[in-house]
Amino acid sequence: MARRNANGIQPAKGDLPRRICAACGLDFAWRRKWARDWANVRFCSDRCRRAGARTPPA
Ligand SMILES: [Zn+2]
Repeated sequence: MARRNANGIQPAKGDLPRRICAACGLDFAWRRKWARDWANVRFCSDRCRRAGARTPPA
């Protein structure tokens, strides 16, 4: 029986936390390289981090 979360999306392997990229808007999963810094991760990649958030604070 497949497990599903509230959105009906099957959880990724290991139920990794997911987040929406502030630049490209796609959701991305936790990666080991972010283990120490997950609370501050807002972008899915270095490219997006350089591009910055789509709606920067005023
Ligand atoms: Zn991105």
